[in-house]
Amino acid sequence: MAWLDRSARSIFLWDIVVGFIVGLKYFFAPKKTLNFPFERGPLSPRFRGEHVLRRYPSGEERCIACKLCEAICPAQCIIIEAEPREDGSRRTTRYDIDMTKCIYCGLCQEACPVDAIIEGPNMDFSTETREELFYDKARLLANGDRWEVEIAKNLELDAPYR
Ligand code: SF4
Ligand code: SF4
Repeated sequence: MAWLDRSARSIFLWDIVVGFIVGLKYFFAPKKTLNFPFERGPLSPRFRGEHVLRRYPSGEERCIACKLCEAICPAQCIIIEAEPREDGSRRTTRYDIDMTKCIYCGLCQEACPVDAIIEGPNMDFSTETREELFYDKARLLANGDRWEVEIAKNLELDAPYR
């Protein structure tokens, strides 16, 4: 049994040496983890984050109240009310999204004929209360104003694949 003990000892020592070499290798290798949220990885232009309602450069709302997004939403979390303006154009008077129901499928964005409703790049919108996740039109338009530069760039990058 003595030879077995010696063999077991040498295997144990060999394991330590190999473990040390592997440890050294990964100590000096580039790190594969990020110190989130202080460090962030790249996001795809197709990332589906927080919803926004966009405007044209003139400031006019893009949404024409066609309600395609409301009709296609599988979670039925979009509620739209609309009426004609004095100039004859049709615009929403109410545009609500219940973000607690949304499944981030992106169908609202795909259905929109004027790129008004978009799932933007923002992923940091957790809240302390449920009520804060009931978005209204003002909130969605404010989101659009905040993220317009990034969203326009993402749509441009994605355009060749559509
Ligand atoms: S992402 Fe999907 S579930 Fe969420 S609002 Fe749009 S269509 Fe509805
Ligand atoms: S956001 Fe787009 S799909 Fe939805 S009502 Fe407005 S124009 Fe139609």
